[in-house]
Amino acid sequence: MTEKIILPNIIKSLRVLLIDDDIFMLNLLEEMLKSLGFTDITTASEGRGALAIIDNTHLRPMQLLICDLKMPGMDGIEFFRHLAARRFCGWMIVSSGSDPRILKTVGNLLQAHHLRFLDIMQKPIRTSDLLSALTKLKDSVPNATNSFDLQMLSPAEIKTGLIEDHVETYFQPQISLSDGKITGAECLARWRHPTKGLVPPVAFISVAEEHDLIDDLTMAVFRKAMQCQGEWTRQGHELKISVNLSMNNLERLDLPEQFADITREEGVSIRNVMLEMTESRLMSNLAASLEIITRLRLKGFGLSVDDFGTGYSSMEKLNLLPFNELKVDRAFVFGAAGDAAARAILDLSVQMGRALDMRIVAEGAETQEDWDLVTASGCDEMQGYIIAKPMPANEFMYWKKHWDASVRDGVITPLH
Ligand code: C2E
Ligand code: MG
Ligand code: MG
Repeated sequence: MTEKIILPNIIKSLRVLLIDDDIFMLNLLEEMLKSLGFTDITTASEGRGALAIIDNTHLRPMQLLICDLKMPGMDGIEFFRHLAARRFCGWMIVSSGSDPRILKTVGNLLQAHHLRFLDIMQKPIRTSDLLSALTKLKDSVPNATNSFDLQMLSPAEIKTGLIEDHVETYFQPQISLSDGKITGAECLARWRHPTKGLVPPVAFISVAEEHDLIDDLTMAVFRKAMQCQGEWTRQGHELKISVNLSMNNLERLDLPEQFADITREEGVSIRNVMLEMTESRLMSNLAASLEIITRLRLKGFGLSVDDFGTGYSSMEKLNLLPFNELKVDRAFVFGAAGDAAARAILDLSVQMGRALDMRIVAEGAETQEDWDLVTASGCDEMQGYIIAKPMPANEFMYWKKHWDASVRDGVITPLH
């Protein structure tokens, strides 16, 4: 019974934009939202009008967007591209009468654009569909008021923060599927903002890229990651640490040398350092970056294709690149047990990785079903909330001690 589900006030107070060319559907959705307690609803009957609304409300940005896929003029796909260009930060629900497989692709596309995709609703939409999508919102962002109001950091804030050392590094473990042992961790940047608290990368990476600050940011993250790794090595923990690179970093010819210098200074062995680059951006900038990528590999750094499955790399293209790890995107891991298309992509990724002699890491495993699926899939390693969320360095070591003990005792059940 839908009436029995009560949405928290924080969700009901979201600023919602509805976009649909079907006026009947627009009114219906608006009425459904009102009956669920929403009060701040704006409607648009086509993409261009919706973009104008988004541009005019940037001081109080829309927080939830429910968008039809098929519209005359600008369709949903083009609309998403414009949203990505504007770095739209609200959550998105897509509605459509199309084939479910097209809808699934749209979900992947939104994630590849780094838009905050929440759910797909198949038309005709019922209140229960809407409620189920909104419940996901509640689960994705528990109690975090400011996650709904995610504001991008300004270039000036990033500049000052780099000088004042506001960048922090969090670490999320990766485990081997053959024995459950921790193989290493991915380093993920966070921003310690003086008034906004801890800010996630979605609010500052793209701004840093656009304003020529990404090299300094990457260097700050890389240095901190290597300092932690150096310390851990001295304590006797041999870990492979992965750092994310932006493709914009690959314009700098001295990058391999600089990274190598830092590892030496911090007492880290280069073979224990992985550099991750996202598949979609890698493939579109390939020619320009190949030289630096190759030199990084020659120096001994490991190279990893991140978010694999969201770009369009063929086996042939991947074979041309000196990458030695492939990270299957969360879209083909989380919930994949109940989704034949996602499972097929996971299986194909494993086959491709095997054929090219790459290590295969499954990202974003959250549930026991994901865990079981990944374990059976032939991946080498797993990373995801079911193992642990990203943590500050000291917490990571504390967590590791517990995990190591449970592996020793033969209990490889996730710790929470
Ligand atoms: P990524 O490199 O694909 O990192 C994985 C992201 O998925 C992280 O989000 C991580 O917290 C999240 N994640 C891991 N396991 C799960 C799970 O089970 N469920 C869910 N829902 N999420 C999971 P985060 O830290 O917000 O980072 C987002 C993206 O920002 C990263 O995606 C990466 O592309 C970028 N990023 C982070 N740090 C840096 C950095 O230092 N430099 C650059 N250039 N990009 C960075
Ligand atoms: Mg990554
Ligand atoms: Mg990834």
